[in-house]
Amino acid sequence: MRSGSKFVFGRIVTSIPLTRTGVEMKRNVLLLNADWTPLNFVSSIRALNLLFKGRAEVITVGEHPSAWDEVYSSPSRAYRIPATVRLLDRVTRMYSTPRFRKRVLFNRDNWQCQYCGINLDYKTITIDHVHPRSKGGGTDWKNCVSACKRCNLKKGSRLLSESGMHLKKAPSIPLMNHFWDVSPAGIWHPDWSSFFTIDS
Ligand SMILES: [Zn+2]
Repeated sequence: MRSGSKFVFGRIVTSIPLTRTGVEMKRNVLLLNADWTPLNFVSSIRALNLLFKGRAEVITVGEHPSAWDEVYSSPSRAYRIPATVRLLDRVTRMYSTPRFRKRVLFNRDNWQCQYCGINLDYKTITIDHVHPRSKGGGTDWKNCVSACKRCNLKKGSRLLSESGMHLKKAPSIPLMNHFWDVSPAGIWHPDWSSFFTIDS
């Protein structure tokens, strides 16, 4: 990890303090491009590697380094796990449609039934194919929505027009912030909010 002072957000900050040792937690780290735009969520190991190689820096938010409370312990040292790191050299992002993933779909839909708006959890959420699979509809971002079991059953294998049901919003390609809690320990770090426009 780089030590000493860094010039971030117009002020000098020191490198992140190492406060305690412990088992590494599987925290996500927000990776920013050199121009401060979000690039990806990466594992804490990947983020630490970028720091070790001098390719990234831990940013500060307010007065503090953007970091989790947890530490990563190597045989010789312990490092506080960063929450937000920024690449020092800008990379060009190649745009491609992200692979379909259930949990990301649920995040995109804010864990709400897209028909009746009820709040859902893992036990109650289902995926509805807007254009039914039996009629050739695909499993993709534009054709799948989160639905409660009741609405899913009610719609059945009918087209939207046949069912008389209405979507709360048109299904869309997920944004980067919808990917944050793909990991088992998917906890949103408050420092990330300033880098995203969170939709409701
Ligand atoms: Zn519903």
